[in-house]
Amino acid sequence: MTTERFTERLTEQRDQGFFDAEDLGTCISCGFCLPSCPTYKLTGDEASSPRGRIALMRAIDHGEVDIFDAAAKEQGSFCLGCRACEPVCPAEVPYGRLLEQLRDAQWKGRRRPVRVWPLLVFARSRRLIRLAGSLVPFRRHASFTASGSGAGAGSGAASDVASDSTGTDRLMLGCFERVLFPGVSRAAADALPGLEIPSDQGCCGALHAHNGDLATGTELAEQLTARPGRIVSTAGGCAAHLAAVAGRDRVADFSEVLLERGELPGPLLVDGRPARIGLQDSCHLRNGMGVSEAPRRVLAALGEYVEVPGAGDCCGAAGTYAILRRRDSRRVLEAKLAVLEELDLDFVAVVNPGCQRQLITAVRRARLRTRVLHLAELVALARAGSAAE
Ligand code: SF4
Ligand code: SF4
Repeated sequence: MTTERFTERLTEQRDQGFFDAEDLGTCISCGFCLPSCPTYKLTGDEASSPRGRIALMRAIDHGEVDIFDAAAKEQGSFCLGCRACEPVCPAEVPYGRLLEQLRDAQWKGRRRPVRVWPLLVFARSRRLIRLAGSLVPFRRHASFTASGSGAGAGSGAASDVASDSTGTDRLMLGCFERVLFPGVSRAAADALPGLEIPSDQGCCGALHAHNGDLATGTELAEQLTARPGRIVSTAGGCAAHLAAVAGRDRVADFSEVLLERGELPGPLLVDGRPARIGLQDSCHLRNGMGVSEAPRRVLAALGEYVEVPGAGDCCGAAGTYAILRRRDSRRVLEAKLAVLEELDLDFVAVVNPGCQRQLITAVRRARLRTRVLHLAELVALARAGSAAE
């Protein structure tokens, strides 16, 4: 490319306005976010910190750095999108939104990582999601017997209870969760009788929004929240995206609704003693939705709750990150695995399918006896009144 053409391109780039000016202007460059950032912890490099990435976005916005420059693309991809930089930011910079805007420009069309394409096509199609969901036995991954009571209990396929638009709570089945961990929705439905479970629901759009297709991500979230009432989610990433599009009051995490109803099951026993249970937070549930106490309170009722040091730190799953940057994903996971080994828990509860997949694989690989279950699955186990093992 000639120097003339390159300069022209930067000018065009500046005029395109990839970023929301207010979002980008909020950062005061204080650096308070640096210690919370996993990629900065890994590298110690300012460029891999939230402040460094915001400086990069500003340089792109001013037409000083090409958005497709190799270093710029590397930082857009290396960031986990965990949003751990948000709660600690005194200026309340909406970093997650800025990252979505960066990727929306960087990963447009054919520039999107190839490995993400099939996932986005799948999640875009309600027909495919439904078909895939119907092919997977509902309890494939659930190594327990849940209580048979409750509205959703019974047959083994997703319930077809129709939403009647009366503004009641509706359970979100998720797209990948219903395929990978179908027992989670079943357990949530059992624990929260009366939830509507529309069978025609599609994807929430989080996958698209986080992978360079903001328009589709927003459209899917709007479709899912078109009916009045709350969406009850068992996936932190989906919940945070829906809340960002439709409003926080339209979305509730499973743990919040369980506490609202006040129907916590009795203790879960292992070898006659209360189970030792830890939690791996979902980054987006914690940092995007502000939900961290509710799952802990539920777990404290289920057994001996053990706070896992670094529970709020990303496990490295981070949506498609574990697929696109496997090596970095493992580096992020490593410290967590060492802590879990040390604690030797009976269970680690998770509140997001990506974390569940990541930790199940890691725990298996490390041959730990600790079992990784979704919070809803643990509640189902306690409801069934059966001691594990
Ligand atoms: S993102 Fe927030 S915490 Fe980080 S440098 Fe900017 S203002 Fe400071
Ligand atoms: S989203 Fe996570 S990895 Fe990315 S800059 Fe913020 S803290 Fe760092």
